[in-house]
Amino acid sequence: MNIYSPEQPISLSQTESFQGEFYVKRDDLIHPFVSGNKWRKLKHYLQLAKERNLHHLITFGGPWSNHLLATACAGAIHGLKTTGVVRGEPVNNPVLTMCQLYGMRLRFISRGEYREKEAYFENNFNPDEALFINEGGSGEEGLVGCKEIINELNQPYDHIICAAGTGTTAAGVLSQLIATKQDTQLHVIPVLKGKGYMEGEIRRLLKVDSKQLKIHEEYHFGGYAKSTKELLDFIASFCRQTGILIEPVYTGKAFYAAVDLMNKGAFSPKSKVLLLHTGGLTGILGKYQDFTF
Ligand SMILES: *Cc1c(COP(=O)(O)O)cnc(C)c1O
Repeated sequence: MNIYSPEQPISLSQTESFQGEFYVKRDDLIHPFVSGNKWRKLKHYLQLAKERNLHHLITFGGPWSNHLLATACAGAIHGLKTTGVVRGEPVNNPVLTMCQLYGMRLRFISRGEYREKEAYFENNFNPDEALFINEGGSGEEGLVGCKEIINELNQPYDHIICAAGTGTTAAGVLSQLIATKQDTQLHVIPVLKGKGYMEGEIRRLLKVDSKQLKIHEEYHFGGYAKSTKELLDFIASFCRQTGILIEPVYTGKAFYAAVDLMNKGAFSPKSKVLLLHTGGLTGILGKYQDFTF
């Protein structure tokens, strides 16, 4: 399947003093619901299912998970059964409704059970039929898919910025920058709170210690799915000025960080900066009431 994810130049009033070039890689355009990095991470799991002749994808997530929806939709496209194991009490919301429209069966399990995902899979599913895909599509297969982001680029960049949850996307991008000997700086914006957490995750996935990696821990806005008026105002201003939609859970935080770093002089004049739009626009559905106009 060919994908469409151009590198689009943008200009913002907030960055007028920056003399370099500013681009967004539009992974949000890959597919409306198998979106962004979730598409990239699922691609190799889908291949694995085919190779092993497994017809059922089992995966895990919170009730607003972009990954659950991406898996449900990809399953429907490829004729595979899907089960989404959801953390916590039974609930309904627009994302879970869309998952079920695409044929996903949902199972709600307690937080305690959820912590033992592998055991839950082993006790409830047959590994000759079903493929275990970890939360967020994280892990080795997911990482491989994210390397392709670098291979697709039309030009080299001095800086790349991306949001991180599990760190799989960042690890894939960094490993391919290293493999292709590009000295691009990768700026990673963890969307959750936790000192040193993201560095540990990326190191666990990659087993390298790279000077090209910079983790900026001060842009979580209170923690996962938390936001502030300042963040929400930035998001509205960005969408209005560019025609590119971003949301408060992932891309809003990463793009806010990019602009803030730019204004603090983190990027030398004339440098080329690339923001990864990792998709996930249904994040807005859970947060729409936070915006005020
Ligand atoms: C899931 C998600 C991320 C986090 O990706 P990781 O590979 O888990 O770090 C970033 N952005 C968006 C839009 C997402 O949906």
